[in-house]
Amino acid sequence: MPTEFAALARRWRALFAGTVRPFRWTEGRLDNGYCAECRHCCGPQPDGDAPYPMPLLPSQLRPDLADDFHLLSPSVACLDQRGCKALGDAGCRLDRRRRPPSCNLFPLILHKGELYFYQICPAVLFSTLDALLDIGETAARDLQRLYTPDELQAISAPLAPETLVHKCISLDLRLG
Ligand code: SF4
Ligand code: SF4
Repeated sequence: MPTEFAALARRWRALFAGTVRPFRWTEGRLDNGYCAECRHCCGPQPDGDAPYPMPLLPSQLRPDLADDFHLLSPSVACLDQRGCKALGDAGCRLDRRRRPPSCNLFPLILHKGELYFYQICPAVLFSTLDALLDIGETAARDLQRLYTPDELQAISAPLAPETLVHKCISLDLRLG
């Protein structure tokens, strides 16, 4: 039986064959030219998976949040089997200031003060090793400048150990 990794890798090869899209760290966020066609990580999550929390910062709270997100609490958006409410036909329809901070980093993941890449993202798979390490090192510096320690803790992804092992690449970079 094919693995999820192999099936998705073949899908990216067919979808993006021969085209290199922008993938760069800009002003505290990742610009990713693959997202609009890919939409993989913003779509419906696998049956049985718990809702994935995406905390918002106090400055992002507004009365109409429920129009854009499924909410776990007044300040925590989530991604579940319904997919994200903000996902449109051409990727995320929210401007960057309205997205949860973890979305502005993804496929870079902050977990317990360390940085990882989500390995099956096409931007990661089609990147060079140099580019991935440069993004990680720059992000590690910028995130500590842009966010307080409490905010960094709030936007840290609550990943299970098996997810880290099977789906993520550790950059061995620690903030703080
Ligand atoms: S898997 Fe990567 S390219 Fe696809 S939507 Fe997520 S961040 Fe974007
Ligand atoms: S807010 Fe946008 S980037 Fe974040 S999960 Fe939803 S659609 Fe994806």
